[in-house]
Amino acid sequence: MKQSEELQEILRRIDHRGYPAYKDTAGAYQFANYVLSIDHVQGDPFASPSKVSVRVDGKKAGFPAEMTDQKHTRIALADALVRRFGRQIEQYSHKAKGSGKSGLISVSRPGQEVLERSAIEITPGSGDVLLRLEIGFPANGRTINAGELGKILFRFLPECVQQSLFYKNTDKQHLQAVYELAQDQQFIREQLAEKQLAAFVADGAVLPRESGVSDRPMKHAVVFSSPQSLAVELELPYAGRLRGMGIQRGVTLIVGGGYHGKSTLLKALERGVYNHIAGDGREYVITDDTAVKIRAEDGRSIQKTDISMFINGLPNGKDTKSFVTEDASGSTSQAANVIEAMEAGTRLFLIDEDTSATNFMIRDELMARVVHPKMEPITPFIDRVEELFSEYGISTILVAGSCGSYFYKASHVIQMMQYQPQEITETAKQEAARFADITRDKPALKAADRPEFHRVFAAAKQAAQNDRMKIKGMGKDAVSIDRDTVELRYVEQLVDSEQTMALGYMVKYAKQHLFDGKRDLREIARLLEELVQKKGIGAVCEGRYLPCNLAVPRVQEIFACLNRCRTLDETGRGALHGRYSGK
Ligand code: ADP
Ligand code: MG
Repeated sequence: MKQSEELQEILRRIDHRGYPAYKDTAGAYQFANYVLSIDHVQGDPFASPSKVSVRVDGKKAGFPAEMTDQKHTRIALADALVRRFGRQIEQYSHKAKGSGKSGLISVSRPGQEVLERSAIEITPGSGDVLLRLEIGFPANGRTINAGELGKILFRFLPECVQQSLFYKNTDKQHLQAVYELAQDQQFIREQLAEKQLAAFVADGAVLPRESGVSDRPMKHAVVFSSPQSLAVELELPYAGRLRGMGIQRGVTLIVGGGYHGKSTLLKALERGVYNHIAGDGREYVITDDTAVKIRAEDGRSIQKTDISMFINGLPNGKDTKSFVTEDASGSTSQAANVIEAMEAGTRLFLIDEDTSATNFMIRDELMARVVHPKMEPITPFIDRVEELFSEYGISTILVAGSCGSYFYKASHVIQMMQYQPQEITETAKQEAARFADITRDKPALKAADRPEFHRVFAAAKQAAQNDRMKIKGMGKDAVSIDRDTVELRYVEQLVDSEQTMALGYMVKYAKQHLFDGKRDLREIARLLEELVQKKGIGAVCEGRYLPCNLAVPRVQEIFACLNRCRTLDETGRGALHGRYSGK
């Protein structure tokens, strides 16, 4: 390994030369207590910034083994360190001047959720810490300004590394709190299984967000408090006794007047598949981590999904056992979303009437009388919701403000009143009993209706073998893999653009290595999940260096992304040309 002095030497030599001479700096250098590695040097000052990583030996970093041994505490620690490092470098970014991206120093910026990221890796056992960041190598015009890079690499960066990646210099109390919160959250997740709960919402939780564009907690919100009848008390290992609302498995209905906080509760449950940072307000809102938000998604593509459990005998004679469309309707898209979530192994559907296709959710008696069932291709969700639980073990939490039909199906009914939940199961059932059950002649789930999950695709292997295949993220909303744009805007549990990027790499990897015309989609998604679980997100990136902007998605979102690829059955490169959904 080269010494840091050699890097200084190189900087002196290339100063004032043309920008490409910066390439000479690539390599690893031993600094006093870490290794700096320049993994990729940008081609010019305006290009995407250079990739740099810092490795601190576990013994020197000195984080307690209990913090790094278990996955959930390790991820929480890593998250806290990258946030701290981010705050440190903020003071220095653009302190070094020049053209283009000169002087930029940036590291991943996590939001409210705690996710596993390529920005930082802590090795279990050794406790080694590896941090990845981007630096805009400074230039004047296109002339190297090595003095400014020297400032960054020999003054700014060492200071930030000292302050954030060594246990002795960090805020130990804060890290202890992070550790304890992660343990408590994990404990609640384990309690869900034990107590047969689909979700838990603690008393004192703050569910609403600051605004439509800010994910921070709303100030002065009405804090959550469980009704006595649904209250569950947990004894957390660190925070001690915690009371909250337990939502039992089965079918739960959330009702209430408009603007009383129904959707806000559901949104919090959607996010409860992830852990949140202290101060978020949703630290102890914990949902079964396989939960999937189901919604209508007009216009999505559907590739060979068996939606026959819900939709049969379409007027155009289309096969619904292996339904294919480039432009789904509200009901077919929502049916596909349900089936694909089942395929992805969910145990909980989260549905909001606000974002559902009404004809997929219900059909009232009068409509059933006027339009003969033989003329209606849709078996609404309400006719399947009980069997989904009894036959498949999948619970449903449904927000319904306007339609009472689900009262017959629900095992629990929660009413939101001025942002507070009340249990009204008894009253709702009594009222419902005075009405005829409009769904009583529903067709039973026949063996033939059971969805089949065996979907096999050829995938565009030749295209994917192109190493320069570009992966381009468009925020959280979409990712394009060599011009095949996969729209993910309505995959609402994708919470970070870094997850979207990671999905792009996963699709590319799957196209190159996993789609063989024999494996089905389930096997491929599981292989991707396993690979990332065992080897980290880096395992799906085959470039010369690992991007510093990836976050690990759940297997449910891996499925969601594969399901929305429009090119899984195209084999030639030509097929990809000019493909852009244009939306
Ligand atoms: P619903 O789905 O019942 O119509 P929403 O959940 O959309 O109602 O909430 C309506 C409004 O009330 C939103 O602007 C939301 O931010 C706000 N809100 C929700 N919960 C709370 C709360 N606990 N305290 C204060 N405001 C809240
Ligand atoms: Mg609503």
